[in-house]
This record gives sequence, C-alpha cells and structure tokens, in this order.
Amino acid sequence: AATLLWFRKDLRLDDNHALQAALDRGNPVIPVYIRELEDAGTGPLGAAQAWWLHYSLANLSKALEKLGSRLILRQGAAEKVLRALIEETGADAVHWNRRYDPAGMAIDKEIKAALRADGLQAVSHAGFLLHEPSKVETGAGGPFRVYTPFWRALEKQGDPPPPVDAPKHWHNPTQWPKSERLADWHYLPTKPNWAVEFDSVWTPGETSAHQRLKQFIDRGIRNYKSQRDFPSLPHTSGLSPHLALGEISPARIWHATIGLGDDVGTDDYVHFRKELVWREFSYHLLYHFPNLSSRNWNARFDSFPWKTDSASLTAWQRGETGYPIVDAGMRQLWRHGVMHNRVRMITASFLIKDLMIDWREGEAWFRDTLVDADPASNAASWQWVAGSGADASPFFRIFNPITQGEKFDPEGAYVRKFVPELAKLPNKLIHRPFDAPSDVLTAAGITLGKTYPKPVVDHAKARNLALEAFKHMGGKG
Ligand code: FAD
Repeated sequence: AATLLWFRKDLRLDDNHALQAALDRGNPVIPVYIRELEDAGTGPLGAAQAWWLHYSLANLSKALEKLGSRLILRQGAAEKVLRALIEETGADAVHWNRRYDPAGMAIDKEIKAALRADGLQAVSHAGFLLHEPSKVETGAGGPFRVYTPFWRALEKQGDPPPPVDAPKHWHNPTQWPKSERLADWHYLPTKPNWAVEFDSVWTPGETSAHQRLKQFIDRGIRNYKSQRDFPSLPHTSGLSPHLALGEISPARIWHATIGLGDDVGTDDYVHFRKELVWREFSYHLLYHFPNLSSRNWNARFDSFPWKTDSASLTAWQRGETGYPIVDAGMRQLWRHGVMHNRVRMITASFLIKDLMIDWREGEAWFRDTLVDADPASNAASWQWVAGSGADASPFFRIFNPITQGEKFDPEGAYVRKFVPELAKLPNKLIHRPFDAPSDVLTAAGITLGKTYPKPVVDHAKARNLALEAFKHMGGKG
C-alpha cells in the first residue's frame, strides 16, 4: 500500500527524514501539502510569507515532477484531508516532519493518535530544528531561561546528525489522487501588488536556499562576527526565510560550517552557529511557554501602561517617524519583506520605548510583513527587546536611533537606499535631519514636515517618559 508524505514546514527534498523514511518503505509515495484552515489554531499566515509559500510550493512541485512524482495540494483540517486521501489511495501510512509551534504540536498529537487507533502507521520525524526541544534541559531537569547555558548544553550534545542527500529516484503510484490548483489559493497579492520588489531580492525554494548558503560560506561568513551588525554590508546569510518554511535544514547549514579550511576565522563560524542556536533557543522558549506571542513571559509587564496611539503606530509602520534609521528599516520591511537584524532591534525598541506601544502590535506587524516570519523567533525577539522575555535585554536599555544609525550606518548607505529623499544630506547629518541648518536642508531639497517628516517624538523626552513608566510598573521583577 502507498505511503502519504505530508509536507509541512519542510518544503525540501534534501535532508528530509520523513521523505527518506517514506521512500525506505519501498512502496509508492504520494506527497501532499495541506493548506490548513485558520480555525485549526495555526493562526493567520502573514501576507509576505504567503507570497513566499506560493513560489516555494511551485518549486517543490517542479522538483518532484523531475522525479516523476507530483505534489498533491488539498485544503481543510489536516486529519480530514489525510483520511480522505487514505480512502482514495488505499495508503496505510503517513509520514511527516514535526512542527514545534503549539498548534502544530497539538495537531501532530491528535492525528497520530487517531490514525494509529485505526491501525495505520503514523510517524513524525525531526528536522526543523538541530535538536529536539524536549531533549534539552537544565541539570535540574527544567527548561533553560538563559541563552549561554543553553548554548553550552547544545555544545555538549554535539553536532546534529549529518544531513542526508535528496533522493535520486521515487516510488510512484500508478494512479494519482486529484490536486487543487495552487493559483486558486490566491497566495499572491493582486491589487495593489505590494510585492513587486520581492522578486529582485528573493528567489524562494530549495535550490536558491542552497545557493545562498554556498555564497555565504564562500564570501559572507568571513568577518561575520565583526560585520554582521552593519545593515548595508552583505555579511549575513539571508537564510531565514528559507529556514522558516524548511527549504533547507538547519543541520545542512550547520554541517556546511564545520571542517572549513583555515581561511575562515574560527570566530566567524562559531558566531554564526551561535545565531542559529538563537533560533533553537526561541523554539525552546515557545515549547515551554506556548503563549510567547501573546503573553509577557515576565508577568510584571502586564501592568505596563502601553499607549493606544494609532497615528504613531501608522507612522512607524509606514516608515514616517522622522528618524532615518527607523524609517529605512520599516521601508525595507515593506518593500523587501525583510529587515536587517540590527535594524529590527532599533525599530522594535523605537515602537516599544519611544512610542510606548505594546510589543504585540509590532510582533503582529512583523508577522504579516516579514517573509521570514517565524512564530518562535519573532515572538522571542520582540519580548527580548521589550525586556519582558526570558534572558531579555533590560527595559532600560533604550536604543538611541540617532547614535545607532551613526554607529552602524556611518556613511548613511542604508538610509540613502531606503529613504532616498534624504540622499543628499552629508554623512554627519543623515541620521539627524532635524539638526540640519536650513541652508543645508534647502541645498539637499528637503523641507521637514513636507518632503520628510519631523520626528514623531523627541527621543530624549520619550526615553525619560518610558523609564518613568517602567519605574512605576507594578509587580515584582
Ligand atoms: P544570519 O545572521 O545569517 O543568521 C543565520 C540564522 O540564524 C538566521 O537565518 C536565523 O535563522 C538565525 N538567527 C539569527 N539571529 C537570530 C535571532 N536574533 N533570533 C533567532 N534566530 C536568529 N528571525 C526570524 O527568522 N523570523 C522572525 O520572525 C524574526 N523576527 C524578529 C523580530 C525582531 C524584533 C528581532 C529583533 C529579530 C527577529 N528575528 C527573526 C531574528 C533575526 O533578525 C533574523 O533571524 C535575521 O535577521 C535573519 O537574517 P539572516 O538569515 O541573514 O541572519
């Protein structure tokens, strides 16, 4: 009897344990992707990631076709769809790779129990993370709250298993079940098409993920540690959206960084692996605290006096705050579906601390606009910046958008790219147009309040207000 191979956040053929196990059974393998209904508790798919998902599925479908196979698309509640396919194909087994978000885990558990109760083989496999969250614990047996001991614990566990190459052959059934059409899922934006520029930055899919990895190992990783904070430099991998939908396995990436020649500084690739482990740590937190995206990890923040200020929220979302580095970041996000990590921290700090808007507003906006939107990394990072998370940056560490800009974008290249109306300002004023003398502004063609906004808040004053609010926050630290 046939085996159903249920693709989820593992849209790849390479290093795919469920796929290997399904093929190893020696029977025909029917690949299926299920568009789960929102009421299955998986939460809404962000619009930018939906764009990515469309191309990723198209890519996976083509790769399967090259092996004589197909990707069957269906929508509905996962268990119902799987049962219908079992009925139609006579399959006696379902294999899939585990997800680690709370809804994904709950679905896994239910389906496994239900199918097994009917005498079917239902097996889930690892592959989205380097290590299973349930197998990483402190000496006392609980979850980690602090990153460094978590990293050490993973170091002790050693490298993840070496990756397994993509299959060269497939076992195909003689008859295929019907598939829905990808175009009918309307994952792509139409009117307006806000994703016009995504194509120039991204190529979703497994092939491109491997190309990015190669390019990064060949060129980017050198000086990663010292250059990764500079948004205009190409020293980060750009792998996050590929990882978010599982187009490449973290084990594949990990193994690509070990045993490299002496020409790459050891510090650089250890540091890179440490970043991959931040992704693991975020999942570790989500695993132990399923409400990570909706509740403060530190309940003391429940009494923080967040402001409801839709005008400021909109200014932030549109990149019209009057602070160039913040605006550049928010516009990069809108135009390219991504934002450099350093700038994510600056823009998040600005929303939370300068505007005193609840971090959950920011988390939701990022979830909708990032191609790499990830339930663990996004929520954990927002809570990290807010100070409400586990091992978080303390609330009183408030990023100064001017000095951060001057330090990490000293020539203003990043700002000039995304806020072109400021392009003609000299370097020393590019991060503080509000301090520019009027003749300099005129020469640069800028009228503050018209061609570029005046600051929505005065940073120094906003900082004091935020610190004051924090001081009077109730509860225990
Ligand atoms: P690289 O520097 O090349 O790092 C390699 C990989 O390590 C990344 O692809 C990513 O998987 C992981 N990684 C790196 N930094 C972090 C981090 N701080 N936390 C967790 N994993 C990390 N990352 C997401 O993948 N999805 C999100 O939704 C997301 N939201 C964020 C929200 C905020 C407010 C902040 C401050 C950070 C967020 N990050 C998120 C983390 C980080 O910004 C991105 O992973 C990184 O910018 C991706 O670029 P890269 O692949 O070039 O990273």
